[in-house]
Amino acid sequence: MERKPLKSLIRGALEVSGCLVEDGKDYLEVLVPQEIAARIGMGEHQLLYFGPQKEGDGEFISYSSEILDNISQLIQDKGLFCKTNLPHLYLKREGLGEAISRKLSFLNSTYRLKQVGQRLVSYLVFHFKYSAISEEKKEGIVPVVINEMTLASPKEMTNALKSYYEESLEEREAKGGRPLEEIYSAACKIAAREIRQDAADFERGLNRRLNKDVARLKEYYGALKEEVQEVIRKRELLGEEKERELSKLKAIDMELNRKIKDQQDRYSLKVNVSLVNAMRIMMPASVITLRVKRKDKEKDLLLTWNPLLKELEPPVCERCFDTLKELYLCDEKLHCLCPQCHDCPSCYKAVCRVCHPQTCPKCGAAF
Ligand SMILES: [Zn+2]
Ligand SMILES: [Zn+2]
Ligand SMILES: [Zn+2]
Repeated sequence: MERKPLKSLIRGALEVSGCLVEDGKDYLEVLVPQEIAARIGMGEHQLLYFGPQKEGDGEFISYSSEILDNISQLIQDKGLFCKTNLPHLYLKREGLGEAISRKLSFLNSTYRLKQVGQRLVSYLVFHFKYSAISEEKKEGIVPVVINEMTLASPKEMTNALKSYYEESLEEREAKGGRPLEEIYSAACKIAAREIRQDAADFERGLNRRLNKDVARLKEYYGALKEEVQEVIRKRELLGEEKERELSKLKAIDMELNRKIKDQQDRYSLKVNVSLVNAMRIMMPASVITLRVKRKDKEKDLLLTWNPLLKELEPPVCERCFDTLKELYLCDEKLHCLCPQCHDCPSCYKAVCRVCHPQTCPKCGAAF
């Protein structure tokens, strides 16, 4: 998966709009058809830079670039990006405290309900297409839903939405949204996990076939080695003659390892992922502010009660974006973490993997 979300987003948008895009390390070189160039205010041959080391005549692109708005317009026109409003949903106002304690356990912190309000909340629904290629090919589409304010990912919304797509559109702004880069990179992490699940049977099938082939090879070459050893034993070979037979054994082992490596390459899995489209859904929701406390530190945590699902959206782990049923807060910055991201896998001590992404500060193990 591309590690620079903005660059990959722009590349996708330009490619589906008929531009020719050459991918450099920190830049894209783009050939733009004349009529599109005029509409989005770009040259017909344009360099777009995403890193600080801009050279020559190119344009540096950030989330506030005007070019980005124009490119968004381009995909919006193609139906690859659309917006919709769900204005008339029932909002729960009572019993939110119980909903929280039912869905979420705070394992090392306390909380109190600070405020409950209603506001317009926006969600981005991404569809990712993937193809997993090995001896065979598997393709699939994976939807990812992200709450733009809390980054919660209420997966069930994609089903619930099917009956609502027809609602009328009324332009309004949802406040408190996170930057697109953060939302998109969360969506990529979630998509990678979903794809792994979706392709799990396919991968298991490949592994089964690989194991069978390897077992067959080991059996065949094992029998060859057996024959050579038999010769050494029966003829009671010594000296040079024995050496010659022993070198045959070595050659058989080398040949076996080469054949196993060939099979591993044959069954290795390459996965290509691309963004197909995105849709922004806006709807009024109940927003709950919790004041959470760990030792002497406190912070506000926003949760959404989703009126489409009629459920509380649990928060997500700030490292792996897994939906949390059990929540840990880290000591330093009160990051919300799942049990796995709150532990060092080597020394099992409590270590925040967001504060310490590279190495464990307690045992020094590299993550
Ligand atoms: Zn996690
Ligand atoms: Zn450790
Ligand atoms: Zn932390």
